[in-house]
Amino acid sequence: MVNSQDEYEITSNKNFNLFENMKIRQHEQVVFCNDESVGLKAIIAIHSTVLGPSLGGTRMWDYESEADAMKDALRLSRGMTYKAAVAGLNLGGGKAVIIGDPKKIKSEALFRSFGRFVQSLGGRYITAEDVGINTNDMEYVRMETKHVTGLSRALGGSGDPSPITAYGVFNGMKACVEEFYGNDNLKNLRILVQGLGQVGEALIELLAKEGAELLVTDIDDEKTQRIAKKYNAKPVSKDDIFKIEGDIFAPCALGGIINDKSLNNFGYKIIAGSANNQLEDELIHGEKLREAGILYAPDYVINAGGLINVWNELQGYNEAKALKEVKNIYNILKNVFKTAKEENIPTYVASNRLAEKRIKQIGNLKNFHL
Ligand code: NAD
Repeated sequence: MVNSQDEYEITSNKNFNLFENMKIRQHEQVVFCNDESVGLKAIIAIHSTVLGPSLGGTRMWDYESEADAMKDALRLSRGMTYKAAVAGLNLGGGKAVIIGDPKKIKSEALFRSFGRFVQSLGGRYITAEDVGINTNDMEYVRMETKHVTGLSRALGGSGDPSPITAYGVFNGMKACVEEFYGNDNLKNLRILVQGLGQVGEALIELLAKEGAELLVTDIDDEKTQRIAKKYNAKPVSKDDIFKIEGDIFAPCALGGIINDKSLNNFGYKIIAGSANNQLEDELIHGEKLREAGILYAPDYVINAGGLINVWNELQGYNEAKALKEVKNIYNILKNVFKTAKEENIPTYVASNRLAEKRIKQIGNLKNFHL
């Protein structure tokens, strides 16, 4: 496995060299899919199948260059390996990107062609929805391959993952509070939720039931007012969130929110939310958080509820079992915090190390039963 320093150097490398990148990040396979007849240009990156089949969504994006598309596929697939490993799943990491503008290139033929490429990998890669792809698109992919997950309940899948992701964040938040205050009671704690979308609102509902003092914000002011009223929370303007002091900041919008600017006058003790890639720069901001004594729940650990859910879907969905496993994010995070304390390292480094340890220990058992 590579460390974060390597990661930083790779992404800042201007002369992109695919095999060098694959070597450093230890990617197993990259598949280029070309079907001119339907306008399909796609890249499937399989980072690792050591713990099990590689799983990760398909993203459709109008990349500026093919190198950008490759970098995204490599970075995201590796992230999935770590996410699955630290969650204790028998899954590896993969990701697919389809190059093109989702508003312009989508067609049944394109998705079915993509589905045939996925099928050709014989289960080494399992796909799901990601940015730019919706349930209808995935239904076309599903016509050509069984290696699809995150399907709607109507098709026998586990449905929208957002509520279960929120449930995982909620339990992860409790672990943070236990770590910081010595008990996991959220009552009367001041919690700001940023981003009132599918995960944010479901999280607020859980927190309101616990009696937390809720502050809510979204770039959509109408949404902020509506959710505030519904859950008896205080609406906060998106520009004022770092002028406030509180117990927990819960980023549930976009990535990069923990940066030099936000940390300049940061008034929260804990960061625990669903957004991906919360630290603008893992090395710099992870270390700054540690120095400042701010407890950070690594994003890919606390937001793993959706992945745990689709893992359950692959085995025949049982909601009670899935919920139990998602609740266990509490214990996984406690272990991350313990490791971080013992080794005096930032929490995101601790979660990377735990993921790497699992890959090494379980690696040669090969749980490839699908
Ligand atoms: P969503 O699109 O439903 O909601 C995002 C919300 O954030 C929207 O209401 C949007 O208006 C708001 N927003 C965007 N920029 C903002 C800003 N600067 N300030 C305040 N609000 C802003 O998305 P979602 O499914 O709820 O996911 C939220 C985050 O969690 C994303 O980063 C996503 O990648 C991550 N995540 C989601 C899941 C899941 O199961 N849905 C799983 C893992 C991770």
